[in-house]
Amino acid sequence: MNVVTRFAPSPTWYLHIWSLRTVLYNYLFAKKNNGKFLLRIEDTDRTRLVEGSVDNMLAVLASVWLIPDEWPNNPWDKWPYYQSERLDIYKKYIDQLIKDDKAYYCFCSSERLDELRTEQKELGLPTKYDKKCRYLSEEEIKEKLNSWIPYTVRLKVPENKEVIVEDLIKWKIKVNTKDIDEQVLLKSDGFPTYHLANIVDDHLMWVTHVIRWDEWTPSAPKHVLLYQAFWWEVPTFAHIPLLLWNDKKKLSKRTWDVAVENYLEKWYLTESLINYISLLWWNPKTTEEFFTMNELIERFELTNVHKAWAVFDVDRLDFFNSHYLKTLDLNYLFDKLKTYLSRYDKEFYDKILKFDDSYNLKIFDELKTRIKHFSEFKSYTNFFYNESNIAPTDLIVNQKMKIDSIDTATNGLKLALSILEDKITDYSSIDDIKVDFVEKIKEAEMKNWQVLWPVRCALSWEQFSPWALELIYILWVKESINRINKTLESIS
Ligand code: GLU
Repeated sequence: MNVVTRFAPSPTWYLHIWSLRTVLYNYLFAKKNNGKFLLRIEDTDRTRLVEGSVDNMLAVLASVWLIPDEWPNNPWDKWPYYQSERLDIYKKYIDQLIKDDKAYYCFCSSERLDELRTEQKELGLPTKYDKKCRYLSEEEIKEKLNSWIPYTVRLKVPENKEVIVEDLIKWKIKVNTKDIDEQVLLKSDGFPTYHLANIVDDHLMWVTHVIRWDEWTPSAPKHVLLYQAFWWEVPTFAHIPLLLWNDKKKLSKRTWDVAVENYLEKWYLTESLINYISLLWWNPKTTEEFFTMNELIERFELTNVHKAWAVFDVDRLDFFNSHYLKTLDLNYLFDKLKTYLSRYDKEFYDKILKFDDSYNLKIFDELKTRIKHFSEFKSYTNFFYNESNIAPTDLIVNQKMKIDSIDTATNGLKLALSILEDKITDYSSIDDIKVDFVEKIKEAEMKNWQVLWPVRCALSWEQFSPWALELIYILWVKESINRINKTLESIS
């Protein structure tokens, strides 16, 4: 079997975290089986369209490497991928259903349907269509059509029959047709409903596996009935459970934090997003945690997807991100950082490009193990990219560091100065600096921190920064001497 999966969003918002999960699972399953993964746009509900959402979705999917094999407006344009451009196709299939007595015209007005719903609610009954038009005679139908009474078309649900949905995650779902509503398939505006268009398209696009979120589980029996009405093969379903926020509330579209783009703007690595999202529902059945995309493709099984909802936890995502910041290649990460900066912080990007790449790389190498994501880079680099500043005296004279007076600090700074002034070339590693400093501090019968703390303050003037030796290594000897001199002048 040639596996074909699809992601079929309605363009009513930007790509959410839970949709990213749906895309990822569709993608992994297709790739694992040497199949195809399609993107189709379900835009038949014209009242809810959001402009720009398809472009945004395509851009975000490309950023996270989940590029479909076929997508709307692709160069070869095999068929229209927007449902709104496929209306004549649905019309043809509606006509076929009516001819085969699998669907019927419904002339009930929306007022009648509203009344019916209210009545059923008051009686505590499930709200369903009462099948009034199902039994109209041919003459009655003809007469109503001829007098242009607006109509919808509804599915004729067989009486008292058991419908079985085979689901790879939920196993078997059984429903009796007496509990299934006679669903509208064609709306009075001539647009198909989601249910009809979705089934027709999945069939025509050779979709073999329908992997989508749990919200559609209750519709699956209706879909099976539709496949049967057309005498089409039913695809295999896999309904993935919901995603909750870490306060156990359902994720809501109102919070921007659910948009995938938000995580790109915070400069999370694709590696960590994909790795974390993959594990939210899927269990590799071992204690392994870190997977590349290729490893996921190899290992992914729909049957190992959890049946319970998952909880989205940004701290866990940070954990994965820190891991990849520590382990991925330095140059690769730095290029990635530059891409993010050029996209989201042009001013800072232009600023760092004024510095040597080797300088930038040294800074990044030092910081990448301390930050959780790229966006923290800027706040930790003030002292590398800005004019040097003077550390406040109460930071330098610090009881915790046993620097009890300006004199102690001055002595420490002077000793560091003498060491650095003897250096003709720059240090080639932090270890070299360490050897020099430890030896000279010992000779001067001082304590390490009495030198290193004031130096750290002179070089970074902030409460939190890398250590003195790292700072010297990054700033080079000359700039370190400048900064120490400046601090000595100011405290003397
Ligand atoms: N258009 C539906 C949605 O956005 C697709 C559901 C499905 O995958 O069948 O939820």
